[in-house]
Amino acid sequence: MEIIRRAKSGECLIGRLTHGCDLLEELTRICVRYGVRLGTVHALGAVQRARIGYYDQGKKEYRFIEFDRHMEIVQLVGNVSVRDAKPMVHAHVTLADDQGRAFGGHLAPGTVVFACEVEIQPLEGTDLVRELDEETGLPLWRG
Ligand code: ZN
Repeated sequence: MEIIRRAKSGECLIGRLTHGCDLLEELTRICVRYGVRLGTVHALGAVQRARIGYYDQGKKEYRFIEFDRHMEIVQLVGNVSVRDAKPMVHAHVTLADDQGRAFGGHLAPGTVVFACEVEIQPLEGTDLVRELDEETGLPLWRG
């Protein structure tokens, strides 16, 4: 069954991240600092190295792909919700190499920022809380 809520957008947070920070950890840290528990995230920029996940639906586990090279963040799209009573950023990225070839997946820790411009849109509404979903093996929103 789908889980759908109404949420109202308010003021937006926009800025750039620190050179050399971990992309996912920094996005999460900003949400904690600014009290964002529900929202959306968009970003673009470049990374020094990247680590993205692909969820193996048969095995119900992530496989991680590492790129030990400089890449463009063509697009990062994500959301903020609550897991274990804390803000959690779930983001997917499309990255491009020096030939313009694109790769993408679930953003994982280990992706290091070269430069990144980010926009976080906090939403006003009831928290969406993640809990382990038996059917998929993923921490999904519960009703
Ligand atoms: Zn994901």
